[in-house]
Amino acid sequence: LVVRHAQVFRDKQNINVLTGHCVETTNPDKQTVAGSTTDGKDFEFPYDRLLIATGSSAIRPEIPGVDLAGVFVLKDLDDGRKIKNFLKNNNVKKAIIIGMGYIALEMCESLVNLDIAVDMVKPNPVFLPWLEPSMAAVIRDGLESKGVGVYAGHVVDRIQTSSAGLQLIGPDLNLTGDMVLVGIGVKPNSRVADSAGLELSIAKSIAVDRSLKTSAKNIYAAGDCADALHIVTGAKTWIPLALRANRAGWAAADNVIGKNAALEGVAGTAVFRVFDFEVARTGLNLEEAQRAGFDAVENTIQSSSRAHSYSSSRPHPIWVNMIGDKKSGRLLGVQMVGTEGVAHRINAPAVALQNRMTVARYSQTDLAYAPPFGPTWDPTLTAANQLLKKM
Ligand SMILES: Cc1cc2nc3c(=O)[nH]c(=O)nc-3n(C[C@H](O)[C@H](O)[C@H](O)COP(=O)(O)OP(=O)(O)OC[C@H]3O[C@@H](n4cnc5c(N)ncnc54)[C@H](O)[C@@H]3O)c2cc1C
Repeated sequence: LVVRHAQVFRDKQNINVLTGHCVETTNPDKQTVAGSTTDGKDFEFPYDRLLIATGSSAIRPEIPGVDLAGVFVLKDLDDGRKIKNFLKNNNVKKAIIIGMGYIALEMCESLVNLDIAVDMVKPNPVFLPWLEPSMAAVIRDGLESKGVGVYAGHVVDRIQTSSAGLQLIGPDLNLTGDMVLVGIGVKPNSRVADSAGLELSIAKSIAVDRSLKTSAKNIYAAGDCADALHIVTGAKTWIPLALRANRAGWAAADNVIGKNAALEGVAGTAVFRVFDFEVARTGLNLEEAQRAGFDAVENTIQSSSRAHSYSSSRPHPIWVNMIGDKKSGRLLGVQMVGTEGVAHRINAPAVALQNRMTVARYSQTDLAYAPPFGPTWDPTLTAANQLLKKM
């Protein structure tokens, strides 16, 4: 860790932090974990209670050339250091990113800011498929206006070295760059749990209940390796994000020492920035709402981040997509894109989802107004009012 070193845990909290120890097996009957250290020694430890918090790993596509020098993933600090070293020691003028998720997009911005030309490529022809199409188009236009090549709908069959650098080859693809970053998502590290016979769930994450208990006695799991309940659908979901990992860690720790903590669930609230745009979401998108069996209706509005009367600076556009359930009137999800005022604005609808509010009740909430911060009617209130007309 950067924020707190292992030694601080040892000195201040009296926690026996054993870095360089990889757990390979768990025996729930004997209540032991076993594995090996980085210097090749085997170990076995007994436990009364076990918390599995093994996180997730970057997915690497099984294509020839993915292990070539100059091809990277970005998951942990070491990956970041390797990328930085490569950039320092090589004259990288062009990078190719495989994947277009939030980490890929954040990396794209960082590389462009270093004056490196970037092409992005992925097999799905739909750019940001979870985002409302007109809002996704705004982001895509923003990327292209920065000179980023967006190759959505192109399969990479192999990576090879050529005289011009690293070459990505596919049926209708031939891109060349000095480095390649693979950012195609993560998968839960559940191998240890799986081999011990623990129940797995969505995307092979470890199945846990509200108290973070797994299917095995005295074993808990929390964070990216474990599933969670979705507060809107009530169904199991797997959303690898930091707050819910951290919160689950705290709750699991409480339960391990005999307290009785139970989590309500997650809404999948998330935000990222790419170049000038902030992109945020909470709850379900239209497709997810329909798949979950809701009678979902949606509406997208364009508003602004400041009052038009506010003369000090131009208001920035904000697009809001809101989803509601026609049958119950419930708010199901909100997405937002804009050049300012998006990131924290998503938190009001996130709270509304937690409280199972209807769109009508949300439209009555007394949100703050002053010209520098938004129009009199907050964009999310305008979105709710407009959605109500369709419900
Ligand atoms: C580049 C990047 C940017 C991100 N940005 C955001 C963001 O802006 N907002 C957000 O909400 N989330 C973000 N995330 C996601 C967030 O980092 C994760 O959700 C969070 O770190 C999960 O915490 P965790 O403790 O469950 O897992 P991790 O942080 O992955 O920790 C798991 C630990 O378990 C160890 N481990 C794994 N297997 C074993 C084993 N067999 N034996 C022993 N130890 C093992 C690993 O070495 C690691 O130390 C980002 C992730 C990445 C990669």
